[in-house]
Amino acid sequence: MSRIVMKFGGTSVADLDRIRAVAARVKRVVDEGHEVAVVVSAMAGVTNQLVAWCQQLSPLHDAREYDTVVATGEQVTTGLLAIALQEIGVEARSWQGWQIPVRTDSAHSTARIQGIDGSELIRRMGQGQVAVVAGFQGLAPDNRIATLGRGGSDTSAVALAAALKADRCDIYTDVDGVYTTDPRIVAAARKLDKISYEEMLELASVGAKVLQTRSVELAMNERVRVQVLSSFKDEPGTLVVDEDEIVEKQIVAGIAYSRDDAKITVRRVPDRPGIAAAIFGTLAGHNVNVDMIVQNISADGTTDLTFTVGKADLPRAQAALAEAQPQIGYADLLADPNVAKISVVGVGMRSHAGVANTMFRALADRAINIQVISTSEIKVSVLIAADYTELAVRALHTAYGLDAA
Ligand code: ASP
Ligand code: MG
Repeated sequence: MSRIVMKFGGTSVADLDRIRAVAARVKRVVDEGHEVAVVVSAMAGVTNQLVAWCQQLSPLHDAREYDTVVATGEQVTTGLLAIALQEIGVEARSWQGWQIPVRTDSAHSTARIQGIDGSELIRRMGQGQVAVVAGFQGLAPDNRIATLGRGGSDTSAVALAAALKADRCDIYTDVDGVYTTDPRIVAAARKLDKISYEEMLELASVGAKVLQTRSVELAMNERVRVQVLSSFKDEPGTLVVDEDEIVEKQIVAGIAYSRDDAKITVRRVPDRPGIAAAIFGTLAGHNVNVDMIVQNISADGTTDLTFTVGKADLPRAQAALAEAQPQIGYADLLADPNVAKISVVGVGMRSHAGVANTMFRALADRAINIQVISTSEIKVSVLIAADYTELAVRALHTAYGLDAA
């Protein structure tokens, strides 16, 4: 007998038929003799609607009231699933974040979980009751409802699994696992049986959308075994586990892409100490996150700096830098939102040379120009023109020998 947390995303609970199917799936796990807690998202599309309503009333709305509104999506699903479970003879009850409680910090709308008291849930699960828990929400120090940021119910599930000392956290979703790359782009993409925490973390942070980045970080720190699997098929998915558990290590585990970045070039800035601090200090002061950075050398005492910011932050970044132009003293500013970031990730890079070069070669052979490069211990990312995204991902998938036979 094990203790299992099962998490179902929005598409898995999109309507009453799917909620019935989820109940049947939970019942099967209960009938096998396991203790079960279920974490649910809002029904597909509901959170988007709730967010839109807040924005329509006021673009700069009170984040605490936003949380009050958007947390309701999950509340509906918990009650419906508990009813569906009771209907097929499974003892169940719903739990909102504040009832457990799931304690968070005070960052309303993007709160972080600080602790979960799992004792009451453990006691009831021991008596055979299924706990149906609302994902995405918790209780802030001001005693008000907080939400965890979009996609946050993955993090709720992993945090709950850690608090309940669960044997596994199964994340049911609309894909059947983690793939070597997006199967909609590369038909030969393969489902991975296992992937390491670190690789999953890098892939999630550079654009692979299957798990919220923060949930992977938490799983890695708390050593929670996570499985990503389909709620529509009855097949094992991908296990996210410690690197040591993976016997056949690939040099590159996966390739991700993101079109969420924009490129900015600041031209002809004075090449002297303090200039990078002035530019990036200005951006930080306006809450703009910077990702990739390159600085050119130049002979005439000035240099060009190129970097990327989130596409949504581009107008804010441009305005902030324009305002600071007199202090920074650059000649002009170029912005390009039509870029894509392509990343290859694999723990094998630590011990193999030439991984980056394979990437550069494959892109060169397709005449794809690389605009910016950045690397970490287990990742190489390049920025290219967005039009070449698909071509680049396909070329790299082949170049690293990832295509299914
Ligand atoms: N319902 C929330 C969202 O759509 C949380 C989640 O589904 O993970 O972002
Ligand atoms: Mg999700």
